[in-house]
Amino acid sequence: MPHFHPPESLLVDYAAGTLPEAISLLVATHLTYCPDCRKEVQALEAVGGALLDSLPPVEVKTDFDRLLAQLNVPEPPRPEAPLAGEAWMPRPVRRALAGIPSAPAKPLPWKRVTGALSEIRLAPPSRTPGGRTRLMRIAAGGAMPEHTHGGTEYVLVLKGGFSDQFGHYLPGDLSISTADHTHTPIADTDGDCICLAVVDGTLKLTGVMGWVVNRFVRF
Ligand SMILES: [Zn+2]
Repeated sequence: MPHFHPPESLLVDYAAGTLPEAISLLVATHLTYCPDCRKEVQALEAVGGALLDSLPPVEVKTDFDRLLAQLNVPEPPRPEAPLAGEAWMPRPVRRALAGIPSAPAKPLPWKRVTGALSEIRLAPPSRTPGGRTRLMRIAAGGAMPEHTHGGTEYVLVLKGGFSDQFGHYLPGDLSISTADHTHTPIADTDGDCICLAVVDGTLKLTGVMGWVVNRFVRF
C-alpha cells in the first residue's frame, strides 16, 4: 500500500480526463498499486456523471433507422497486442512501452546516462508538449545525479525503492519535486530501483471539471 499519493487535484483532473497524456499515465500507474486512490477516482467519476446527468437534455435529430442499423453491426473482435516489458510492470507502463521499437520480443533498451543511472524514453507520451516521460533505473545503492529542470518532476517507483530527504519511496509511491527544491534520490541497496519519471513544465493542475468539483464537494 503506497504512502505517497498524487495530490487531490491530480485525481480530480484524472477523473475528468483533462490531464496531459504523460501525467495521466503516471496516475493510472499509481492506481494499479493504490486501492484508496482507485476508490476516490471512482467517487469523482460518479460525481462527474451526476453533474452531466443534471444538464438539460439536448435534442438530437437523426435518422433513427440508420442509427439502429449502425448499432446492430457486430464489432469485429480486437485482439490486444502482446504487452511489452516484464511481467512485474503495471499494465499502463507495459502498454506505453509497446510504442518503443524493440519491445516486446527483445530485452528492454536501457541507455546508460551516468554510472548508476540508465533510462528508456517512452513514446508516445514523451512527445506530449511540455512533458518528458521515461523509465529510470538507478543501480542498487546508487545516487541519481543532481539535476535541474524547468518544471515539476514526478517520479513513481515501480520496483525497488529510493530515499531522499523527504522519505523512503517504495513501489506505488509518488515523489513530486518542483524547480524550487533539489533532491538527490539514493536507491535502496537490496536491488535496482526502477521508476516512471515525468518532467512537465506546463502542467495545469486543475481543469474546469476539477474547479466545479472542488468548489462544491468536500471529501
Ligand atoms: Zn494513492
